[in-house]
Amino acid sequence: TVGCAALDKNGNIAAGTSTGGMTNKKYNRIGDAPVIGAGTYANNKTCAVSSTGWGEFFIRGVVAYDISAMMEYKGASLQEAAREVIQEKVPAMGGNGGIIAIDHEGNVAMEFNTAGMYRAAMNKEGELTIGLYKENEDME
Ligand code: ASP
Repeated sequence: TVGCAALDKNGNIAAGTSTGGMTNKKYNRIGDAPVIGAGTYANNKTCAVSSTGWGEFFIRGVVAYDISAMMEYKGASLQEAAREVIQEKVPAMGGNGGIIAIDHEGNVAMEFNTAGMYRAAMNKEGELTIGLYKENEDME
């Protein structure tokens, strides 16, 4: 999967997700990536989210929308919402994976419950603010 989440200077946010799907997937399977609210979601009031992982669980949990809804209706921060959904709700269903996200203030979250997830973040000057990591290590 290759995903992105972006905030522009006018406060518009967007998410995009591209994937080849799961290895040995069934013919005609549609994963979470093109399902708005599951693998991909953006709302200017809250955040933009792009997901990777076992798509059936991201569809079942409506993961990308759930993160946004926790911000909108519970007042959670992006990081709090992402952590609860990826570290608690998705594993409780038996799924795994992760998300990258940015909120309407430019805060970034990259939460995952797998051994690793390649990820990076860039600021408005186009500089890398979070490097390209795979290992499940703490980010500065
Ligand atoms: N989420 C994708 C899917 O289930 C797979 C992936 O992230 O690589 O189709």
